[in-house]
Amino acid sequence: MHPRLLFWIPAGLRLSLVLAGAAAAWYFFGLVPGLVAAIAGLLIFVVVQLHYLYRLSIWLNDPNSAKVPDGWGAWTEVFARLYRMRRGDEKNQAELTEWLARFRQAMSLLPDGVVIMDDVLFLEWCNPAAERHLGLRLERDKGMRVTNLVRSPEFMDYIILGRYEQPLTMSLRERKLVVQIIPFENRRQILVTHDATEAERIEMMRRDFIANASHELRTPLTVINGFLEIATTQPDLDPKTRMAHLKLMCEQGQRMQNLVEDMLTLTRLESVDYPLRPERVALRVLLEQIEQEAIALSAGRHTISLRAAGPDIKGGTEELRSAFGNLVSNAVRYTPAGGSIAIEWQACDAGAQFVVRDTGIGIRPEHIARLTERFYRVDKSRSRETQGTGLGLAIVKHVLLRHDAALAITSEPDKGSTFTVTFPRKAIYVE
Ligand code: ADP
Repeated sequence: MHPRLLFWIPAGLRLSLVLAGAAAAWYFFGLVPGLVAAIAGLLIFVVVQLHYLYRLSIWLNDPNSAKVPDGWGAWTEVFARLYRMRRGDEKNQAELTEWLARFRQAMSLLPDGVVIMDDVLFLEWCNPAAERHLGLRLERDKGMRVTNLVRSPEFMDYIILGRYEQPLTMSLRERKLVVQIIPFENRRQILVTHDATEAERIEMMRRDFIANASHELRTPLTVINGFLEIATTQPDLDPKTRMAHLKLMCEQGQRMQNLVEDMLTLTRLESVDYPLRPERVALRVLLEQIEQEAIALSAGRHTISLRAAGPDIKGGTEELRSAFGNLVSNAVRYTPAGGSIAIEWQACDAGAQFVVRDTGIGIRPEHIARLTERFYRVDKSRSRETQGTGLGLAIVKHVLLRHDAALAITSEPDKGSTFTVTFPRKAIYVE
């Protein structure tokens, strides 16, 4: 039935009943009792309506679906419909609130910043990442102009030029930010911010690496080219000089080969496609081989000792050979003749420890923190003299990172250095 009829039929019926009662009173008792009955009936009718109107107005002050009054007569339908409407509204509102909460949570987890502004750049809302990137605080800055809050000439130029189809890369609060404005709706704009500091740092490292590597390769290449030119322009050079030139060319060729090999090792260690496949590493055997290589490199100039009492570990044998080999060969290369080198492998409280102690030239404290940087050398000419590439300790650092191991360096100039590698207990191999 049509809802309007549901209201009018009961209301009409009750009114008709009152009037029929009054007519009956008139018929049986005369005009005056009939009129009295009609007025009394109508009065009751009006009082009832006023009572429900009053309850409706009270409910409207706090229109909660759980508090909708019970009706009588036509009011039953009115209140039932109000209840259904309110329930629907409340459900929509609950859904909307839930969505809003989810949206807020998603926005707060977003690593990129989002700022919502009106058409004249007044801040309406922003997420925590935008607060961090731009130094905003929503509570404090809401309603303020974003250009007054983000004080950057590059950002101002970007706004003035209005070329929003292109993002802007700018420096702000010691970070590199990529920002872009996206107009939406008619009178709103979104400002998206992305922190590119890390990407920029990696890009700079890559550029530095290429520049350093080219520089390192250029020197031996120039030497080799020089001798080759002499060989072609002076064919009748005496055999002794020619031999000396060939020897120098071989040395430079070897240097280039070492460099390329170290660069390839580093690239492999950094590659995600080259994960560590742990195996049992027989440390004693490995260290005995490294000791033999050190003895060959030293050519009798040093006293070299090995004490390997520690356990076997889980790791990459070839990677550890490269890391330990680098540390031991450094000890040989940076220790003058007559010095001694002690290699130790033992269990310790933290797990297990590899120690290389030398009585060499030592390192001044200001260099120690930078030694594992690529191509960092304390003394370039000395490193070159001893066939150093400047990549050895960078390789060590990467290998140890992949094994959850830590490197500690203590050194005293002219007295010697100690390089200690500590492996965690979980790296120890148990049968
Ligand atoms: P390099 O190929 O030049 O030896 P590394 O990365 O192995 O490169 O070492 C970086 C620098 O650290 C070296 O150039 C040297 O100055 C210093 N260094 C490394 N090991 C020792 C050591 N045992 N004694 C003194 N200096 C060392």
